Amino acid sequence: MKKITVIGTGYVGLVSGTCFSEIGHQVICCDIDQNKIEQLKQMKMPIYEPGLEDLVRKNVHDGRLTFTSDVSVAIQHSEIIFIAVGTPMSETGEADLTYVKAAAKMIGENLNDYKIVVTKSTVPVGTSRIVRQIISKHAFTSVSFDVASNPEFLREGSAISDCMNMDRAVIGASSDMAAKIIEEIHEPFHTKVLITDLESAEMIKYAANAFLATKISFINAIANVCELVGGDIVKVAEGMGLDSRIGNKFLRAGIGYGGSCFPKDTLALHHLARVAGYDFSIIQSVIDTNDKQKTIVIDKLLKALGDVEGNAISVLGLTFKPNTDDLRYAPSLSIIPILLNKGAKVKVFDPIALDGVKRYFGASVTYHDDVYDALHDSDACLVLTEWEEIVGLDLDKAKSIMKEPIIIDGRNCFDLEIMNSRGFHYQSIGRPAVG
Ligand code: NAD
Repeated sequence: MKKITVIGTGYVGLVSGTCFSEIGHQVICCDIDQNKIEQLKQMKMPIYEPGLEDLVRKNVHDGRLTFTSDVSVAIQHSEIIFIAVGTPMSETGEADLTYVKAAAKMIGENLNDYKIVVTKSTVPVGTSRIVRQIISKHAFTSVSFDVASNPEFLREGSAISDCMNMDRAVIGASSDMAAKIIEEIHEPFHTKVLITDLESAEMIKYAANAFLATKISFINAIANVCELVGGDIVKVAEGMGLDSRIGNKFLRAGIGYGGSCFPKDTLALHHLARVAGYDFSIIQSVIDTNDKQKTIVIDKLLKALGDVEGNAISVLGLTFKPNTDDLRYAPSLSIIPILLNKGAKVKVFDPIALDGVKRYFGASVTYHDDVYDALHDSDACLVLTEWEEIVGLDLDKAKSIMKEPIIIDGRNCFDLEIMNSRGFHYQSIGRPAVG
């Protein structure tokens, strides 16, 4: 059992801290956001993540997990400090390291004993060395410490299961001893461990995310070509995925990737390469393809309706994927303003994220926590997220309450033959239009 402090109690810090406590470590999760910590102390989860609340409750109850907004005390208490703060996209596309640097400064100021400072946040190559310099600069004593990089690979929506059953842990460290200790704390996860130098560990995370984003943009581009020349992207992807060199994951055509990782990490990698003197044109194409893909449902809608001015358009699903409340870079945030600009009356449905979306659109759209209320009297509907409530839609009921049975599906949720036989005009991605 080790004493672990996690700085930053967001999607990554809260989930990984909770999972480290679940496998037996003594964990303090700290955050400068006092409101978040107060909520957590009252067992109110600041994020929606399946299974999180139960696991937090269990480990708090068993005395292995605590929360504090006193970051200094949390740092002094533990030997292993994970930095899990945000690294948002800056205006230039570069990763903004403000929060990582602030965390490193606090660690330096509170360095009371040997510590291993592990960066879990997604950061550009070279950041662990910057963290080391900042800690040394602000340390009042000459106490030794190590730095390490241990990037996080969990996915929102299945974060607890991803963390508890992680398929690999990547560890880059400034000393063999630090690498060994971090490897040991992962032992109860029974996962594959890859020990590397610091820079490789940092690059693995960017390279993995950029590669997955490339797969998504690639299949979306193939879908767009299928629409022009024929073919059904679902079958094409199935056939490609049967090749074990390709694999069947991340080959689902749609309206592109969003969320808090792929958009910022692809841009950050592109920026990192450019500053180093390399024009990473593949990544630029991936980003451009994704940007165009986001609004493809608008073109399809206009094709179906001609004009949307004065029309009621239902937008089903607002988060960038199901089972999360994360709205960062969700395609809905690009699509809804276009509809509003064109004079549409927008009715939105999401099972989890309505409160979050209100912050973006206020009174300019109507909000529905029932999918059929959102569809009532609408001239057309856009499907943006494959939530269970949407995939399992009662199509006959939907058709009976919509003014016009027009569905533009950005996630290929429905079967073409079924949509045709039920009398819908149905357009999806990379498949022929029906009705
Ligand atoms: P987040 O915005 O949900 O959480 C970050 C937290 O850090 C916030 O609660 C913030 O208040 C806190 N914080 C900021 N500065 C602090 C400081 N000095 N001291 C204490 N707390 C501080 O971010 P996230 O989604 O959890 O992402 C964190 C990092 O993990 C990012 O680098 C991200 O790219 C990476 N990552 C995210 C995911 C994901 O699915 N969200 C997956 C893998 C990796």
